[in-house]
Amino acid sequence: MLQHVAVGHKNLADYTHIVGRQLVEEIRSLADGLEGKRVLHLSATAFGGGVAEILYTLVPLMSDVGLHCEWHVMLGREEFYNVTKRLHNALQGSPDAPTPEEWEIYDHYNRLNAEQLADGWDVVVVHDPQPAGVRNYVPEKAKRWIWQCHIDLSEPNRSALERLLPLVRDYDAAVFHLDRYVPEELRARPGRPVHISPPAIDPLSPKNMRLSPEDAAFVCEQFGLDVDRPLMCQVSRFDPWKDPIGVIDAYRQVRAEMPAVQLALVGSMATDDPEGWEFYNRTVAYADGDPDIHILNNLNNVGAIEVNAFQSQADVLVQKSIREGFGLTVSEGLWKARPMVAGNVGGIPLQVIDGRTGFLVSTPEECAERSLRILRDPELGRRLGLAGKEHVRANFLTPRLLRDWLRIFKQA
Ligand code: UDP
Repeated sequence: MLQHVAVGHKNLADYTHIVGRQLVEEIRSLADGLEGKRVLHLSATAFGGGVAEILYTLVPLMSDVGLHCEWHVMLGREEFYNVTKRLHNALQGSPDAPTPEEWEIYDHYNRLNAEQLADGWDVVVVHDPQPAGVRNYVPEKAKRWIWQCHIDLSEPNRSALERLLPLVRDYDAAVFHLDRYVPEELRARPGRPVHISPPAIDPLSPKNMRLSPEDAAFVCEQFGLDVDRPLMCQVSRFDPWKDPIGVIDAYRQVRAEMPAVQLALVGSMATDDPEGWEFYNRTVAYADGDPDIHILNNLNNVGAIEVNAFQSQADVLVQKSIREGFGLTVSEGLWKARPMVAGNVGGIPLQVIDGRTGFLVSTPEECAERSLRILRDPELGRRLGLAGKEHVRANFLTPRLLRDWLRIFKQA
């Protein structure tokens, strides 16, 4: 019932030339003494969204340094995902919290998954709220339980948070991306630490490896883009928090000044995101048949290489989120040395330092103005992009995340 995700192999040694010998050596010495520890990552989906993206790299690297590490995905059906999507939105501040009946559905699936869970783990790392309830049914199945929250809990719908807290309070530790996301109730637990560790991207994955400009242009041409004209691009799930409608507004303002500009909205459909299609259709309707707005999703065969190509090809990358846990797409874009114009929310300001590694914006007007500035001044774009790449190298590549996790495990 719980699905085991096959992640393949990765070697930490392959990252040495990218992140430097010092970090790799630190990781090896932290791993010393953790060999053979049985670590399970439990999440809601193996496809779409940031958590899956991280685990495809983190899990094989944990194995490479000697842990016995597995990743299992919980069973859910549409009724469950409808509830968890509402819960996710409520925890990020939406007034529309799950009803008592919906919480029953949540509890039901969490109990089913708890029963299915294998026994004998040293550590189970539970990702996000969807499987957070599993622990309370079977605390004896692991020596330590860690809850990693990937979302922004700084301004939650209180009723949703209060219903969630009893499910996560007894975890041995919690991990958040930013200090300000940690609810007070979780800080005040003696002997149960809260760790702060932002996520990271894999520089060697097909999504982030170096593509030649010719290959990137070739891929974009396959999707009907004119690679000789300027391109703005946002890569994101179709979700109101990612504000693709605002991106279209910004593009229209840029286009009024620079008619050659094109826009690509590249968004995958997560299996746990039933609202995705509805919002996708709204975005398509809003584009109103403009042939220079290219709206693409994974059903158009947009996979990792294509995302890489669009990010590498774009003259301006946009991430106009209104709420954002971290925003992996921002690190992905910066790593390709592209200038980023991004919403001043959540984890984005960690990555985009305004005026140095990109521009932070709050409205479509600001987004249009900064985008235009970059499009008119390629040297500015180049400078922002190069600074962004070095910022990501120093802070947001997976070996740093692996180091953080080994430190957390070491505290056991
Ligand atoms: N993504 C993708 N294909 C798409 C859209 C998004 O592979 O069409 C990936 C994107 O590259 C990133 C992840 O999904 O790695 C999204 O993570 P992020 O933290 O930006 O947002 P989340 O979806 O977790 O809110």
